[in-house]
Amino acid sequence: MPVIRMENFGWRYEGQERWALRGVNLSVEQGEFVAIVGPNDSGKSTLVMAMNGLIPNNYYGVIEGSVVVKGMDTREHPVADIARHVGFVFSDPESQFLSMTVEEEVVFGLENIGLDVDEIRERVEWSLGLAHIPMDYLEKPPYELSGGQKQRVAIASILAMRPEIIILDEPTSMLDPVGKTEVIEVLREMRRSYNATIIVVEHRMEDIAPLADRFILVHDGRVLRDAPPREFFDDIDFLLEHGVFPPEPMVFVSELRKMGLYDGPIPLTLEEAISASREALSGLRGR
Ligand code: ADP
Ligand code: MG
Repeated sequence: MPVIRMENFGWRYEGQERWALRGVNLSVEQGEFVAIVGPNDSGKSTLVMAMNGLIPNNYYGVIEGSVVVKGMDTREHPVADIARHVGFVFSDPESQFLSMTVEEEVVFGLENIGLDVDEIRERVEWSLGLAHIPMDYLEKPPYELSGGQKQRVAIASILAMRPEIIILDEPTSMLDPVGKTEVIEVLREMRRSYNATIIVVEHRMEDIAPLADRFILVHDGRVLRDAPPREFFDDIDFLLEHGVFPPEPMVFVSELRKMGLYDGPIPLTLEEAISASREALSGLRGR
């Protein structure tokens, strides 16, 4: 059974003529890593807020179809019930910080669910380790941290709750280049060592393509593509036409392929792009 199932889902925010999303059919299986891409205002945040029940519960608007998360129809269950299974990380780490120290931030949710001291300690160590936050940061106030560190603490505080599903909506978009790289590294670590379902809206496709099981393209309120990375990136022109800019090595190899110099798959990593280019160029030499 999928952990998330959307059937003919649509949402129109109150006061808007346009549907922010319409006709969305998709399911996410336990343990999948799903990447969501699309231009600004295409409906990506609306999609992920529908997956944690914030839509329709905390927004005014008109809903169509249904979203079922861990067997709960989001029209019938409060966000608090759904939030026990779904952790959510926003773009802006500031917006989710509530506490005076890193420790309070990570421990807060754990105390709320009534875990004992040993379990709390174990989870704090585990989640900080996963998020690459040294233990001696526990006493630090959030304002002493860099943007990337703040976002990693925010992620740790969600991980500590061990949600079966974790959704991150552009977790790197407010960060400087170093912070972006740090957060991507945490996503990589999560993929490696945490068997949760991970759903991430993220523009850094060169970093996500090797991690994801699936890419979803949202465009103008519709899901236009939903496929494994190899297939998703196979038609680079389609993505470019719909406001998505794939990593340059992919675009380059796609051009070589159009010129008839290469006929293999589109590369997902720089290494693969280099071997694809080698193959194309060695073919040229033989002519
Ligand atoms: P994305 O995350 O891809 O940038 P959003 O899901 O935020 O897109 O937005 C989809 C559409 O819904 C946009 O046209 C946006 O202006 C509109 N929208 C988003 N949030 C609200 C809101 N709270 N009230 C009214 N319209 C909204
Ligand atoms: Mg958004």
